[in-house]
Amino acid sequence: MSGKIARIEIDEAKCIGSDACVAVAPKTFKINPENNVAVVIDLNGDPFEYQMTAAADCPPEAIKLFDFDGHEIEINIDDIDFPKDASK
Ligand code: SF4
Repeated sequence: MSGKIARIEIDEAKCIGSDACVAVAPKTFKINPENNVAVVIDLNGDPFEYQMTAAADCPPEAIKLFDFDGHEIEINIDDIDFPKDASK
């Protein structure tokens, strides 16, 4: 469960459909086959760490995470434990 993220924004103009976010957080993101742009399918689909990693791994930095106060969450992968089993 996530619990820390109130909103996820994907900048459609930046997204290149690389699939990196889907690889890390497959229950949160998917690629819309019609325009090859990522969409959020479930805000609580994956743990916060997976979603943070997905945002960090996005090549064009198209993913923004926001907390419940409406503030953008700084993408800082040094503060998280990387998922060891992405198949959970
Ligand atoms: S990782 Fe970024 S560029 Fe790649 S599909 Fe996800 S949002 Fe788009």
